[in-house]
Amino acid sequence: DQLTSQEAIALEDKHGAHNYHPLPVVLNRGEGVYVWDVEGKKYFDFLSAYSAVNQGHCHPAIVDAMNKQAQTLTLTSRAFHNDMLGRYEAFATDYFKFDKLLPMNTGAEAVETAIKIARKWAYEKKGLKEQDAQIIVCENNFHGRTTTIISFSNDEGARKNFGPYTPGFIKIPYDDPKALERALQENDNVAGFLVEPIQGEAGVYTPSDDFMKQAKALCNEHNVLFIADEIQTGIARTGALLAVCGNCTCEGHCERQETYSRPDILILGKALSGGAYPVSAVLADDAVMNVIKPGQHGSTFGGNPVAGAVAMAALNVVKDENLAQNARKLGTLFRNKLNDYIKGSTIVKLVRGRGLLNAIVINDSEDSSTAWDICMALKENGLLAKPTHGNIIRFAPPLVMTEEQLLECVAIITKTLKAF
Ligand code: PLP
Repeated sequence: DQLTSQEAIALEDKHGAHNYHPLPVVLNRGEGVYVWDVEGKKYFDFLSAYSAVNQGHCHPAIVDAMNKQAQTLTLTSRAFHNDMLGRYEAFATDYFKFDKLLPMNTGAEAVETAIKIARKWAYEKKGLKEQDAQIIVCENNFHGRTTTIISFSNDEGARKNFGPYTPGFIKIPYDDPKALERALQENDNVAGFLVEPIQGEAGVYTPSDDFMKQAKALCNEHNVLFIADEIQTGIARTGALLAVCGNCTCEGHCERQETYSRPDILILGKALSGGAYPVSAVLADDAVMNVIKPGQHGSTFGGNPVAGAVAMAALNVVKDENLAQNARKLGTLFRNKLNDYIKGSTIVKLVRGRGLLNAIVINDSEDSSTAWDICMALKENGLLAKPTHGNIIRFAPPLVMTEEQLLECVAIITKTLKAF
């Protein structure tokens, strides 16, 4: 039986933990850039499940790969081999140009994995005394929800009453190479620098163009691992395969020295599966990854054959459909259009982002409800977006959008903003 929106929301409210505050819309179908609610209303999805659905909802090639594998073999655990994992690892390491991949399921798990690898590397390769390793992170970071990860968050909502916290993290301001240099000079025990190339959850906070390059150079100089969390920014979202590719406009992964800030550890999730299945991964070269030996890390579902098949299909879509190039082109158009609009507007303070990871900052305080009210009005007008903080709205549609669809969305957004 088809539930109404009200019935579905009431069930969640009564039987589910209240750990989210969703927009009151209940979806039951998705295709490409569109989703439909249970009453049959059609919307543009302008969040893409926090950048997981880059390839569009229910992409037929991804669904097909998932179906085929699901009918053949779903899970072996790593107690035994399966014939998909090695194929997937060979494919993904060639795609991203690293020696090795460690498969996990969610973003937070992959971040935890990267932290564990960095610490182990620091003790076994760099020669730090056990228990001393520090990892430098940035203020306003978002890397997930586990106890260790929230230990170095400065979002009180994410932290409060979840202590005691995991020690071993040094926090510096984002986009501040001088602060990074100082932290590296003042601490001999640094294992790695963990950073988002653009801070998504913080409000698509986009750093200066050369921040990644400077960070990478400083890490090299101090024998510290440069760890890029590309869970939200990676896989074509920002107009290049990875945000650390900088302004490179090639379609693949060329490793051009002048633009590419190659991480020592690369963390991927979300769009690695096109949103079809939980798939995350940590990539690194042998000198780093080989510190992990049998029995020292793992996951029952990590590296399962469905995940491997889905991820290969999802990565093929990115290249076959030139999604990085499309994100770059449409992103520039989107920001130009919105920047034109806000010249005559008092409600939007600024537009920022790269590729199709963008946000508008509303001219109101962080504790206001204006961004929420605008998202409710956007919903009425057929477009779904979500505030991040009280006064920022993120705009991240699937990358399979056409120019015509994007212009239709710009018209919805500007029409909606005019009413505020
Ligand atoms: N890291 C970044 C940069 C993210 O944006 C997210 C999710 O939004 C995560 C990590 C956590 O991923 P997950 O929710 O899959 O654990």
